[in-house]
Amino acid sequence: MSNKAIIFSAPSGAGKTSIVHALLERMDALSFSVSATSRAKRGEEIHGEDYWFLSPDEFRNRISKGDFIEHEEVYPDQFYGTLKSEIDGIWAEGKTVIFDVDVIGGLNLKKYFEDDAMAIFVMPPSPEELERRLRGRKTESEEKIQMRLKKSTEELSYSKRFDVILENKVLETAVDKAEALIRNYIK
Ligand code: 5GP
Repeated sequence: MSNKAIIFSAPSGAGKTSIVHALLERMDALSFSVSATSRAKRGEEIHGEDYWFLSPDEFRNRISKGDFIEHEEVYPDQFYGTLKSEIDGIWAEGKTVIFDVDVIGGLNLKKYFEDDAMAIFVMPPSPEELERRLRGRKTESEEKIQMRLKKSTEELSYSKRFDVILENKVLETAVDKAEALIRNYIK
């Protein structure tokens, strides 16, 4: 089996993280690429499981060493990026990499992996529902929520550049569809 990758991107609040978690429970062939970030830990997040949490200076240092496939400063001093070491480790185990990244990161990863990746855009049912979900998290300030909403309008406009658009109205249905797409892609 050749080395493959599945990229999930969406505006934050569209539900891609829930879909990715459900797929990881169902499919042993998948392994999650843990991104690095310099944002603060939220809630129950675990270093090395949800993200590699780095300080902004550590993050800049790893950029200059060339450790990332892609990285972005998504908000001021809040870096996110994909480490080369993550992918090498997962492929060495014979597994398919699964990514949960923002829209620009997803497009950059697709450009990097080309036909070795399937890029899936998770579409929220409506802008109102997206806002409701973001507020439902109750972990962020109004300012942060506004920042994410503004960004999401731009992100929706990139959806057509993805290989697949997956609507997430009912989580279970979206996960079933994603599983079928992935099984067909990696077989
Ligand atoms: P959050 O702070 O909600 O965990 O993530 C903010 C955004 O950054 C999300 O859209 C998330 O998917 C994205 N993100 C997470 N990891 C990466 C990564 O490795 N690269 C890029 N470009 N974005 C990422």
